[in-house]
Amino acid sequence: MKVVLQNLTKKFPNRNKKGTDVIAVNDFSFEIPDGKLVGLLGPSGCGKSTTLFMICGLEEPTEGNIFFGEDNVTELPPEHRGVGVVFQNYALYPHLTVRQNIIFPLQNLKGADKLSKEEMNERVLEAAKLVQIEELMERKPSELSGGQQQRVAIARAMVKMPMVLLLDEPLSNLDARLRLQTREEIRRIQKETGITTIFVTHDQEEAMSISDVIVVMKSGELQQIGKPQDIYDDPVNLFVAKFLGTPPINIFQGKVKGGKLYLTENTAVLDVPNVADQDVTVGIRPEGFIPDEHGSLSCNLVRVEVMGRDISVVSTHPACENPNVRSIIDADIEIDPESTTVCFSLKPHKVLLFDKETGKRIYFT
Ligand code: ATP
Repeated sequence: MKVVLQNLTKKFPNRNKKGTDVIAVNDFSFEIPDGKLVGLLGPSGCGKSTTLFMICGLEEPTEGNIFFGEDNVTELPPEHRGVGVVFQNYALYPHLTVRQNIIFPLQNLKGADKLSKEEMNERVLEAAKLVQIEELMERKPSELSGGQQQRVAIARAMVKMPMVLLLDEPLSNLDARLRLQTREEIRRIQKETGITTIFVTHDQEEAMSISDVIVVMKSGELQQIGKPQDIYDDPVNLFVAKFLGTPPINIFQGKVKGGKLYLTENTAVLDVPNVADQDVTVGIRPEGFIPDEHGSLSCNLVRVEVMGRDISVVSTHPACENPNVRSIIDADIEIDPESTTVCFSLKPHKVLLFDKETGKRIYFT
């Protein structure tokens, strides 16, 4: 099921003295293709949950429309939208067993949707199999691990065979190892069922690893939408460039003069054809540095960290905003850890320029 958001805006009345509205979501328009997993990504308070609540019908938009396929569902109550929702805190009924928790939404179906006991049991078993918890059906939630509880919550959301699955920070309460395992599980379930899924997270690594498409938000505004790799390689502004990537992008203050990029007064580090002379903010991805004794970017070496396949060279540079310049290079390349300086040449496609005032990307060819 394709989901289309059209000029979606949500304002909340503010309780402060000035009385200006809080614009949680501002004029959002985008299309979520049928059968895809979309990651809604942004820092805390950027409007992710509000967007999700409007899609499932728990919040009413101030302006705009929501379409499921060709149907305008903006006015439709949540129970008639065909959505399954999983929240961060699982929200399982503590006094019910796993089986009773999963069957609960089916017992409330009315009229033509009503199912026989056999049909309900069949659906429950199917959902339990999907998330691999058939062995746990008679336990209470308190007798399950966090990961198992989250699986039950997913099974409960899936049992009504929703057209759209909405997941609001579903991994936040899990420890690091379980997060990894459960996110792979969510991806598997999504692929197996082909259900259009919207996944809210503030964790860029999580969003990058499982999403077909990422939607990056900031302060209620859509920043960029696209495939994870495309957004990483080609961010439209400084915010998006900084938000994606581990280790984060290295930010420098620089200057373009005569088609060349300078990070210090006299030494050009890269040709940047077709860019007018100006001060710029420069982002260099950690994998964009090539150790090169003749390289024009000279940094003060702090330490070399061995990571197995790669090594991380930690250095400093006077024009760098980050406390350290972090570069990731192949472990086959030898860096003398005793040296006080390390020189690099740069991979042009890993160097991104941004307008110093607006943060908008400046492209060079
Ligand atoms: P988080 O990752 O912290 O959950 P989020 O990106 O999901 O954040 P939202 O919960 O959608 O953000 O909130 C967006 C903005 O709207 C925030 O500034 C929040 O304070 C505000 N907001 C949300 N609900 C209300 C409400 N009922 N009344 C007033 N303001 C609200």
